[in-house]
Amino acid sequence: MTLSGKTRVAGVVGQPVRHSLSPILHNAWLKAADLDGVYVPFEIAELNFEAFITGLRGSGIAGLNVTLPFKLRALAAADQATHRARLAGAANVLIFQKDDTILADNTDGLGLLWAFASQAPGFDPQAGPVAIIGAGGGAQGAAAAFLEAGCPKVRILNRTLEKAEQVAQALGAGAEAWSLTRAVEGLDGVMAVVNATSAGLLGEGLDLPLDATPPEAVIMDMTYKPLITPILTRARALGRQTVDGLEMLVGQARPSFAAFFGQEPPLGVDVRRLALNVLEHST
Ligand code: NDP
Repeated sequence: MTLSGKTRVAGVVGQPVRHSLSPILHNAWLKAADLDGVYVPFEIAELNFEAFITGLRGSGIAGLNVTLPFKLRALAAADQATHRARLAGAANVLIFQKDDTILADNTDGLGLLWAFASQAPGFDPQAGPVAIIGAGGGAQGAAAAFLEAGCPKVRILNRTLEKAEQVAQALGAGAEAWSLTRAVEGLDGVMAVVNATSAGLLGEGLDLPLDATPPEAVIMDMTYKPLITPILTRARALGRQTVDGLEMLVGQARPSFAAFFGQEPPLGVDVRRLALNVLEHST
C-alpha cells in the first residue's frame, strides 16, 4: 500500500467504531492490490452526523461505510439512493460523486446472500418462506434481500409487533408481521431463520424454538461476536446448516470496496482469517 498526494480515501463512520473490522478487510485488499488508497475509521458524536457528512461534500473522499447507529440517517442525508437502499430503509454505503452529490447504497443484503451462497451452497431463496427475527435496520435489509432474490414470503418476527408491522408495510405484499410470542408457529415450514436482533450484543439471551424449523432449514445469526453464537450452537446441535455473521460482513465489504476503489477486491487474501485473528484477541 502506497500513500501519496493522490491517495484515495474511504472509511467507516459509526459510534462506536473502534471495534470495526472493516479497516482490517479494506486495508488488506488495498495492500494486496498495491493500490494508492486508504480506509480509515471515523468515530463521531451522534449529534454531529449530518454536519460531518455535509462537511465531506466536495472533499474528494471516495465514500464511507456507515454502521450503527447512523444507517437510517445516512439514507436521509444522501441526495440519491439505489433501489435496494430505499427498500432496506437504510444505507451502509455513501458514495461521494464527482458532481459533489452523495449516493446512498445498501450492500448488507448482498452480504447476506453472499454468506448463504458461501456457507449453505444448496440454499435456494425461492424454495419457501424465511423468518427474520428482529425489525431494525438489519432485519429490514435482510428481508429486502430475500424478497429481491425471489423469496415467496418473508415473516418478520419481532418482540415489538408494531415495529414488525411497519417493516412489513414498507416491504410490501411479500412480507408479514409476526409477534415473537408466536415463534413456534412462525418458524414452522421456513427454509431459513436469520437472527437480526441485537439481543446478543446487549448480553441478553434469545431463546428461539429452532426445533420448530424443518430439518433442511438454514439458521443464520448476523451477530459475529462470538462467531458461533448460542443460536448457531443450538442449530448445529439440532443438525441444521448454519451461516455466520462474519461471512455477511465480508460479503457486504466486497461491493463497498469496488464502489470506493473502482475495482473488485483482489482474490487470494484470506480476510476472514485476518478478521478472526482480531476477534479472538479483542475483549
Ligand atoms: P437495531 O437496534 O435497529 O434493531 C434491534 C432489534 O433487536 C429490534 O428489532 C429489537 O426488538 C430486537 N431486540 C433487541 N433485544 C432483544 C431481545 N432481548 N429479545 C428480542 N428482540 C430483541 O439493530 P440492527 O438491525 O442495526 O442490528 C441488529 C444486529 O445485526 C446487530 O447485532 C448488528 O451488529 C447485526 N448486524 C450485522 C451485520 C453483519 O454484516 N454481520 C450487518 C448489520 C447488522 P424491539 O423492536 O422489540 O426493540
